[in-house]
Amino acid sequence: MTNEPKPRIGILGAGQLALMLAQAAKSLGLDIVCAGQPGDCAEQEARVLPVDLDDAAAVAAFAHQVDLVTIESENIHADVLHGLPLYPNARAIGIAQDRLLEKRFFHDCGIGTAPFAAVDSLDDLQEAIKSIGLPAILKTRRMGYDGKGQVRLRDPEEAAAAWTEVGGVPCILEGMVNFENEVSLIAARSRTGKIVFYPLIENHHREGILRTSIAPFIDATLQHEAENYLTNLLAKLEYIGVLAVEFFVANGHLLANEMAPRVHNSGHWTIEGSATSQFENHLRAIAGLELGSTLSHPTVMLNCIGTMPPEAETAAYPGLFRHDYGKQPRPGRKVGHLTFPATERKAIADWQHRLHADL
Ligand code: AMP
Repeated sequence: MTNEPKPRIGILGAGQLALMLAQAAKSLGLDIVCAGQPGDCAEQEARVLPVDLDDAAAVAAFAHQVDLVTIESENIHADVLHGLPLYPNARAIGIAQDRLLEKRFFHDCGIGTAPFAAVDSLDDLQEAIKSIGLPAILKTRRMGYDGKGQVRLRDPEEAAAAWTEVGGVPCILEGMVNFENEVSLIAARSRTGKIVFYPLIENHHREGILRTSIAPFIDATLQHEAENYLTNLLAKLEYIGVLAVEFFVANGHLLANEMAPRVHNSGHWTIEGSATSQFENHLRAIAGLELGSTLSHPTVMLNCIGTMPPEAETAAYPGLFRHDYGKQPRPGRKVGHLTFPATERKAIADWQHRLHADL
């Protein structure tokens, strides 16, 4: 670390990603303030100022109080981001928040995806079904997360109902990929253009929500392929910070599904499983510090969806790390996660059964 003054960092959002960024900031001695709402979970670790993230003037006033701004969600309107000292930059965020721009960008970078077509009307949808075939998924271009804004189609007769269900907003139709695995790669790029990678992570979703991440996913060829893809993406975007890309493994190759211009749920295991967590490396990158080592050991993360298990029950497993975000229980909501060294096979099996019984 140099003797230069450390920048004051503002985070747009105050949910669990901001909470874990704030925890990492403490160990780096960085000052963090979040833009959110009273009661948001990052309040446990950082000052949260009440800011309406749809109000460009309020966000600009917030940004005025800090040296640089980062995000915990890409679903923030471009007008609000305009002119902020933003890391990663607004172009990268703009591409990642629109599935059509994102897929086209992957293709421009030579990265394969599922077949897709833009859909702006029911007529477009019917044409897209003919060109792409079924089964397929209709996804809203914007504001989709955790499987929201998605409708699966098996029969052309379902087109009108699907179009109504997504609310008739701009969409893409995506061919269904018959994948062997879902994996993600997380990288951090510094202000000087240095890049570090974590190992590929194997991810299991249900109902569009991540349930389990297992690191590493061992495949030297795919690790190399994914690192090449991200090197290219990061350079083309002049990206600073952590970027996560989710891939399908199909016929032994990678097809990009989506990218997140931020720390990512599939990287939460890095808090205990890597020499430097994704949260710390994101802060190091944007604050102009050297990136930390991503040397990692095999680790498994299970998401807690809806409610946290009782503390007395998780405490009975000494190898388990419990992260409770302090959120109100709600069906489908990510309220915490559990992390285990991969050697804790029995504990992982017990908790996987307990939390996600039918995976
Ligand atoms: P997404 O919001 O695009 O990440 O989709 C959530 C989850 O739905 C993915 O992680 C996959 O499990 C599944 N999914 C999405 N798109 C496809 C696709 N084209 N083919 C097969 N499964 C998909």
